[in-house]
Amino acid sequence: MQSTRQRAAIVDVLTEAERPLTRDEILSLGRVKIPKLGSATVDRAIREMRANFEIIGVEFPGQARRYELPAAHEHPHFVCRVCDRVFDLPVKTQLPEIKAPRGFLITGGEVIYSGTCPDCLKKRKQA
Ligand SMILES: [Zn+2]
Repeated sequence: MQSTRQRAAIVDVLTEAERPLTRDEILSLGRVKIPKLGSATVDRAIREMRANFEIIGVEFPGQARRYELPAAHEHPHFVCRVCDRVFDLPVKTQLPEIKAPRGFLITGGEVIYSGTCPDCLKKRKQA
């Protein structure tokens, strides 16, 4: 199988999801597009795409690493405390500038909000 097709499928999956996905989520959504998509193939594609900065790895406390497409601007993430999914919040944020303590070089930061996502809120109302 051609690797460009698998990479394109991964980009499609991430574009359609509009939120950072775990490797397992990428694999299962990718199989909707390419039924024979193998897990080793996805792992290799993820590794290569990360090295090329085509996708970015993001980590959240207590969760498997997730991947997202490079964003045009900084945006906060939102972790649903009910379903554990992570969402991009389409709002502009700016990290507060801090003075690095001696010995630290700060190269990035992350704003994470948490709460209940629209799907889980809807389910709660119906229950
Ligand atoms: Zn949820």
